[in-house]
Amino acid sequence: MEDQRKIASISAPAENPRQWLTAYLHTRAHLASCESDFQCDPACTRPGCRNQDLQVQASVVDLLGAAMHLGEPVSAIYRRYYSLGLFTEEREDWLRMVALKLQKPCPFLANDLCGIYPVRPLPCILFPEYLVWQGTFAANAGKDHFRDYLCLKQPILLSPERAKVMGKLMRMWERESLISSFYLFNHGPCRLDFGNLTGELLQAAAGLSGAASAERPETGRSIPHQVLERFFLEHIAKCPPFAGVSDKIDYLHNLEGQARFLQLLQDDLLLRKLKRGGDDRVLVFRFAKGKLQAKKRSLSPAAYKNY
Ligand code: SF4
Repeated sequence: MEDQRKIASISAPAENPRQWLTAYLHTRAHLASCESDFQCDPACTRPGCRNQDLQVQASVVDLLGAAMHLGEPVSAIYRRYYSLGLFTEEREDWLRMVALKLQKPCPFLANDLCGIYPVRPLPCILFPEYLVWQGTFAANAGKDHFRDYLCLKQPILLSPERAKVMGKLMRMWERESLISSFYLFNHGPCRLDFGNLTGELLQAAAGLSGAASAERPETGRSIPHQVLERFFLEHIAKCPPFAGVSDKIDYLHNLEGQARFLQLLQDDLLLRKLKRGGDDRVLVFRFAKGKLQAKKRSLSPAAYKNY
């Protein structure tokens, strides 16, 4: 909040969006290392930047930051380096959240260095310290898809000062991700329920592996992530609200569009409204007969079974 006020005092986004964004990104970059004792292992092979199984969510701020850093239009940056993607959020069922994501392997990685380091997405900044901050370090360090991560082989210590900074960064991320969803989809986070599409997904998975499988999958985890994502991009992304995303990103090319988004980013009332529902009243879409239908519902497993 204090940082938000400092940024707000530099200039209002409507008056000078570029100056405001520069100040915001500068604050974010400062907080990335502020009070931190964490350093990447020199022998790290950057699995987080290369491996497909770690999806990196991004926000509209990240798109704008990369565009400014590289001196390219934001629409070109989006089409070349980002896309819409699906996130499991550690769920075992058929629900996936739709959000912006970095392509993988990350196209910004060159000679083991990040080509947009000062403006890299907040999830890149937060990893791996956020695992300690939220108390899930030990559980994640033991997971198979983190076996190549040297930084997870030893405990990471967070000083109380760094824990406070992490809290600020996490709140910034919550704001960026919620407002980005609102800007792109006109809603808070949008989830897709693939539970009624098991037949189509099973066929697509069999086509991918070359092996015919007639077994009905138990959960979304039984279907490769790339199959779900391809199905989403080929069939579902053409439907509103996802179909409007490219136009919304094109609009960010001009200063008026940037000012509009950055004003939303500062709107505390909107943020409170987007947070209000928590996990109890979220928007979940189902794709049936070529159309998307939306429903507000709980994300808790019990409600999911009764759906
Ligand atoms: S943006 Fe930078 S830190 Fe993030 S995945 Fe890409 S190369 Fe790695």
